[in-house]
Amino acid sequence: MSGTKKSQKNKAGQRERSSRNDNRQGQKTTRAGSGGGVKNGTARGAAGNHKAVERGRIKGPRGMHDVLPQEQKYWEYVVETAKMVLRGWDWQRLDTPLLEETALFTRSIGEDTDIVSKELFETKTRGSGARYSLRPEGTAPVVRAYIEHGMRSWPKPVKLYYVGPFFRYDRPQSGRYRQMHQFGMEVFGSAAAATEAEMMYVANTLFQQLGLEDYTFHINTLGDAADRQEYLKVLKEHLRRNRRKLSRESKERITTNPLRVLDSKDEKDQQVANTAPQLIDHLSEEARDHFDKVLRMLDELEVPYEVKPSVVRGLDYYTGTVWEVVPKSPEGERADLGQQSSLAGGGRYDGLVKRLGGKDTPAVGMAFGIERIIEQIKKEGIELTATDGPQVFVAQLSDRAKLAAMKVMKKLQEAQIRFAESVDRDGMQPQLKLADRLGAKWVVVIGQKEVMDGSVILRNVESGMQEVVSQDNLVEELQKRIDLGSISSL
Ligand code: AMP
Repeated sequence: MSGTKKSQKNKAGQRERSSRNDNRQGQKTTRAGSGGGVKNGTARGAAGNHKAVERGRIKGPRGMHDVLPQEQKYWEYVVETAKMVLRGWDWQRLDTPLLEETALFTRSIGEDTDIVSKELFETKTRGSGARYSLRPEGTAPVVRAYIEHGMRSWPKPVKLYYVGPFFRYDRPQSGRYRQMHQFGMEVFGSAAAATEAEMMYVANTLFQQLGLEDYTFHINTLGDAADRQEYLKVLKEHLRRNRRKLSRESKERITTNPLRVLDSKDEKDQQVANTAPQLIDHLSEEARDHFDKVLRMLDELEVPYEVKPSVVRGLDYYTGTVWEVVPKSPEGERADLGQQSSLAGGGRYDGLVKRLGGKDTPAVGMAFGIERIIEQIKKEGIELTATDGPQVFVAQLSDRAKLAAMKVMKKLQEAQIRFAESVDRDGMQPQLKLADRLGAKWVVVIGQKEVMDGSVILRNVESGMQEVVSQDNLVEELQKRIDLGSISSL
């Protein structure tokens, strides 16, 4: 696991290292970058695309991205930290297929939500014409699996987490992709307010361990089903009275999904939303009490939050407490992008297991957007101290030496010493140049003589000093030097 550091100096060093890696991988990041299309390590310049089409080259799908080698350290860092924290808190991993029957999503997320009505990637099977969709989110598939595998007989609460790609056929834009990646956690079998508080506390711990500071939780409650029915009547009345002032989309939503008008980004809609009756004033005593308990626990646990009536989440299955994690600072918040700036979101969904054919089971879940978290890590200037460049470069000077070099490399890999090589090159100078460009501190040189006597020359790149070491002792000798972190031990 890599550590983190926040410092400008470090940042510069990192840039230097990254650019070396770029060169190594032969990716023309400069050109793609100048096309303005590099996001999260994804290279897709508009101009470049145009030319590619002219030449008949096939490009990647719109809104989906390659994760280039120099970006992998961010992904590894986020996913490994998430796994470590979730496993540590006794969550167990569940993987579900990338495709599910479309009905799973229409029944759970809701026909009238954007995700289902506009954003599903759907396909029909050739034989029966059954409709399947690429999963747009993780909760519904996890609930399906929970029911299918009889997990309700497992000791409660059942805590499951997932990691992987999700798909939404939306208009691609900054921070909003058609293939994005999430990890998420779900808890089944607990109606206690402590469960929501625990989940937000774990999420907060996770963000802290990632080194993030500029974020806060926006929390709201949707009340129980009866509260919500009652409230929806009042809200619809208010929206109908102000119908003229609403955007076309919100006019349609008065009947289909009135809660969504409250989190509309349209200015006119927001004015109507600001004067709307608030759900929080229509809560039953029980629901209010539950919400108060959650908030009190968050205070105790020092989770940063604000109560925001506009947080309604776009999915039908939520009941009770809902929340989003958003960047705190004004420039981070990107008000224009609204929900697109959220790093994570979640809530209670007590009715969903039953709705999908299981026994009535209270549940809480939360999903994190990996691309958004990586973007936030970069925005906050968190540099990963893990060096992904090679520690050693293995150079060889003849065909026989190439074979000896491969055997040496096997030993290095087994000892987890990061190395670079280029068995396709001949001649010392090109190989030393490459070693220097990659930032390797040590070069292992194998020529005819070394093949004959089973040795290598170990060269310190900085000082140029070198010594002869037996191939059998090489790992040990390198470990001494690398462990000491010394570049002047020769
Ligand atoms: P949601 O299931 O919509 O609550 O999404 C959970 C998290 O996934 C959000 O807070 C975002 O961080 C991320 N996310 C959702 N949709 C997208 C998208 N289209 N592109 C990138 N990240 C997304």
